[in-house]
Amino acid sequence: MAIQSPAIIAKPQRRVEQRPLESQIVKITRIDVYQLQYALHDRTYAWSGGHSVSSFTTSIVRVGTDEGLSGFGEVCPLGPAYMAAHARGVPAAIAEVGQALLGIDPTQLHALNTVMDRALGGHEYAKSGIDIACWDLVGRVANLPVATLLGGRLVDDYPLYRAISQDSPERMADSVARYRSEGYRRFQLKVGGQPDDDVARIRAVTRCLEAGDVLVADANTGWLPHQAIRVVNAVAGEDCYIEQPCPTLAECLVIREHTRLPMILDEVITGIGPLIHAAGFRAMDGINIKISRVGGLTKAREMRDLCERLGIVMTIEDSWGGDVATATIAHLAGSTRPEYLFTSTDFNSYVDVSIADDAPRRNQGRLRVPEGAGLGIHVDVKRLGEPVLTVR
Ligand SMILES: [Mg+2]
Repeated sequence: MAIQSPAIIAKPQRRVEQRPLESQIVKITRIDVYQLQYALHDRTYAWSGGHSVSSFTTSIVRVGTDEGLSGFGEVCPLGPAYMAAHARGVPAAIAEVGQALLGIDPTQLHALNTVMDRALGGHEYAKSGIDIACWDLVGRVANLPVATLLGGRLVDDYPLYRAISQDSPERMADSVARYRSEGYRRFQLKVGGQPDDDVARIRAVTRCLEAGDVLVADANTGWLPHQAIRVVNAVAGEDCYIEQPCPTLAECLVIREHTRLPMILDEVITGIGPLIHAAGFRAMDGINIKISRVGGLTKAREMRDLCERLGIVMTIEDSWGGDVATATIAHLAGSTRPEYLFTSTDFNSYVDVSIADDAPRRNQGRLRVPEGAGLGIHVDVKRLGEPVLTVR
């Protein structure tokens, strides 16, 4: 008997009223940069190399359009020494690219990034504020959450880690216990100090872990190779991940040869090029995507999609931030396949300033992906003060 092809039923065409093309084009008419000071609830945050911060400056970038819409992005370097970014660089870089952006359509995100990259080389962190604000605008124009635009909401909420500031082994173990009581089950220990001290820190914490907890020992580039080799040998039997032991990829590859512990790379993954390069060496099992470091959501999404193809898990986060950064992270994390989302954190719970009452808040160690249009939060502009830069 002949196999019949399935009938294709022609549906009657529904006429969609199209707005004239010209009236669909949104134009950037104004860019404002506001700066706020954050202090930490835990007073101080210390990591490798003797670095610590107790307060730092964040930049809130607002992109306005001819239709009266505003989108928001946040850029919050962890002080000037953590990575190639500093707070005063944000308005300075946006002053360079701002004029080139006036009059262009913020919903054309790849084109917008091309304009920014042509106007200013590097300074990805500063450009990220514009990129994120424009994703917020696209969502508001389309009446869709950014997570939908990034490929689709895959989870309603996701698990968070807590960063544990470098301190004595006992105090770090106490911090882990305190944050576990608040619902966290994933912990990132700040190590990268003297090897003996770091081995004691890792052992003190692994002793108090419970089934289901995840521990990452993050050296933040702080070890020389011989120090890193001593630490990974000493903790070889512990259940933990090692993150960014040394400053360069070449050094991290040496450490990888000496350990069977899973490896995460962070500081060397500054964009998709370094990700491809490191993946070619099978240098890591996971990476840390800091959205502002790589230039915003447009570029972070490319890296996220590539990691899913390569089997590389991701910590999706930023250098720091408050309500806007936390919401931005939530949309990228919430549209990532959950098996590839290693972890993330809720920066707005670490700092003492809130600018959006409806920003996502931690619940039992998890964060909910906002459901509203754009970033899904409403920034209270009155809390931002006067802009430090306006381009119009
Ligand atoms: Mg790290």
